[in-house]
Order: sequence, then structure tokens, then C-alpha cells
Amino acid sequence: MKDVALKLLAKIEEAGYQAYIVGGFVRDYLLGIESNDIDITTNATPKDLCTIFKDAILPATEYGAVSIVVNQIPFEITTFRKEYTYENNRKPEKIMYIDSLEEDLKRRDFTINTICMDKNGKIIDLLGGQKDLQAKQIQTIDASLSSFTLDSLRMLRAIRFATRLNFSLSTEVTEAIYQMKFLLRTLSKERIKEELNKIFSSPQCQRGIQLLLTFKLDEILELNQLKNMHYFSQSIGIWAFLEVDDKYPFSKNEIELMQKIRASRKDVLNPYSLYQNGLYASCVAGEMLGFSKTEIAKHYELLPIKGRKELAVKGNEIAQLLHQEPGPYLSKWIEKLEKEVVLGHLQNKKKTLLNYCLKNQSMIG
Ligand code: ATP
Ligand code: MG
Repeated sequence: MKDVALKLLAKIEEAGYQAYIVGGFVRDYLLGIESNDIDITTNATPKDLCTIFKDAILPATEYGAVSIVVNQIPFEITTFRKEYTYENNRKPEKIMYIDSLEEDLKRRDFTINTICMDKNGKIIDLLGGQKDLQAKQIQTIDASLSSFTLDSLRMLRAIRFATRLNFSLSTEVTEAIYQMKFLLRTLSKERIKEELNKIFSSPQCQRGIQLLLTFKLDEILELNQLKNMHYFSQSIGIWAFLEVDDKYPFSKNEIELMQKIRASRKDVLNPYSLYQNGLYASCVAGEMLGFSKTEIAKHYELLPIKGRKELAVKGNEIAQLLHQEPGPYLSKWIEKLEKEVVLGHLQNKKKTLLNYCLKNQSMIG
């Protein structure tokens, strides 16, 4: 990964610009942690970059990052910039491209995120990032109060890095969060959710949740159930537990999954619950209740059918049997049969199921 990145830096430099790896990759590399993506900073503009890399994906917004994927590694390349005037402390209103690496580093959030690597793999540390990395400390570049006033998301990023890296927050950062946490209310729920998701997906998420509670961010972020949380494995399980489906933006799939997890929690080993909610939601719900995945999977495997397709009769066969035109009433029959089969009351055999329909004709129109 690093070698591919260094070649990329060399290619940008050959074209007459400066380029460095910056941010998460260098930080994690020095800590011996693997990264998934690489951020590059350069004085080449997006337009210049598109001339250098023919397959570069232009930024969606005017000042966005240029993305390229080499050997399946995603690279985000941003041009040295000075960001100023944030509107409602959301996104920078105006961005100015600049020519100085140091100036570009100064607009970033934490010292540990300003360490760079040049094309020879040499570490360039202009703002004392390595000192804080060794001290395992999250420290803002500027005064924490003004840093968080400029972009309040940084408070959640601080908690995310402290959680993921098992670092402590500097005294200044800690005090500034207490003072400035009210600003989190002005952030969009999308940005908050994204950051919380990273905290919840961390293997040490318990520590992250503890930090959120220590700062009483549960009140500000409308996470009323956070203090009762005793489950830390899957982030979607944590969201399901928090019951904030209407407060944060979730996709249709996420909502469906959270509903299944909550439904499954009511009677997780019940065969019909396992059947309706599926293995994944049942495993998440099971974990919350203290059942291992193996145990849930064992019960799931015992189900006589795992889906509607495996049912021994089809709707049109029932219609034929009852001398009726196919219609919506058939799905009621199918649901009834599924339940009876899953609960072991009926064998999944065509004859048995059709017989059952005949005998119980009066039950469904
Ligand atoms: P990750 O491991 O999650 O990728 P990262 O530190 O690389 O962590 P990114 O969100 O990828 O974080 O951002 C890349 C770099 O951009 C950061 O290291 C930091 O220098 C800078 N940065 C990102 N978000 C902010 C912000 N809200 N304020 C200031 N600087 C930021
Ligand atoms: Mg990154």
C-alpha cells in the first residue's frame, strides 16, 4: 500500500508539484495499524491532477478531493488549502488554495493528523504530531476552543480517535468539549451519524460510549438510551438499541434491519422469530441477550424451511385446489402455511399442506 502511494507522490512531483501522504495513513503507519485508504496533500490543483492522472475522478464539489483508485487502494488527493469562514459551523463557506504545506497542515484538526510522509518514505512532522503520538494524546493544533468553534464535528472526531487508538484527550481538549458541546446541536444529523457510526464500529466502542456519557453528549445528541447500553458488538445493533430511527437519517435497509433486531429480541430462539427476522438480525439480538452466534445459528439451521421458496406448495396450486381465481387471499394462505411448517405443526409436504387448506377453507375467504 505504502509503495503504491510513494509512486503516486513521485508521479505528482515529476510533473513539478509537491505531494505528501498525510492524515490517517501516516498516523496509523507509525502506530503499526493498517489503513484502508490514503489521503494525499499537494499543491497541484484538481485540474492539474486530472492532467497527471487520466483516470482521476474529479471532485463532486468545486473544492472537493480528487479520487483515484490504484491496485484497489482508494486515494483522496486534496490541494493545499486554507479554509475560512464556516457558515453555521457546518461546512467551510470559502476555500482558498495556497502553496504552503505548513499552512495546509495548520487548518487540520489534531496534531497526530498532521504528520506527513514524502516520496522517499521520510516522515515530515512540522507541528509536533509525533510527540503527541508518543504521548498517546489527542491535541488540537490551535487552541481547542477556537478549533471546536470553527468546526464542532472535531469534538466527535476527538472522541472517535481516542476510542479507536485508545488515546487520551488532552486536558485542553477535554475542557473545550465541556464548554463547546452545545455547538453539536448545530451540526447536521448526517455528519453526526457518520462519526458516531465510526465510534460504534470500533472494537473499543465501549470506551467511546463511556466518553460520550462522561461529557453528557447523550443529552445533546438525543441518544436517550445510551446510558443503558450494555451491547457493543455490531454498530447496527447499537443503533437498534438506541431507537433513534426518526432522529437520524437511516436507509430503508437499515430501518428494516433495526426493526428486525428489535422484533427478534422479544423471543429470539422462537423458530418463527428466527424465520421472520433472519439469521443476521437474530444473531445481533441474540448477542444482546447473551446467546452466542453459534447457538443462534444452531437453532436457525433446525428450521424446516428458511424461506417462502422452500414451501412445498405454491399459491396457484392452492387456488386450483379451492377452485378460485388467484388473488391477494393467497398470501394469507402462504403466510399461515409458513408459520405452521416453521413451528413444526405441519410437515412441509405438498399433500399435507393442500389437505390442511381444504380442511380449513372457512378460515380464509
Ligand atoms: P481515518 O482513519 O478515519 O481515515 P483520518 O485522520 O484520515 O482518519 P479523514 O476523515 O480521512 O481522517 O481526514 C483526513 C485528514 O483530513 C485528517 O487526518 C485531518 O488532517 C483532516 N481533517 C478531516 N476532517 C477534518 C476536520 N473536520 N477538521 C480539520 N481537519 C480535518
Ligand atoms: Mg483518511
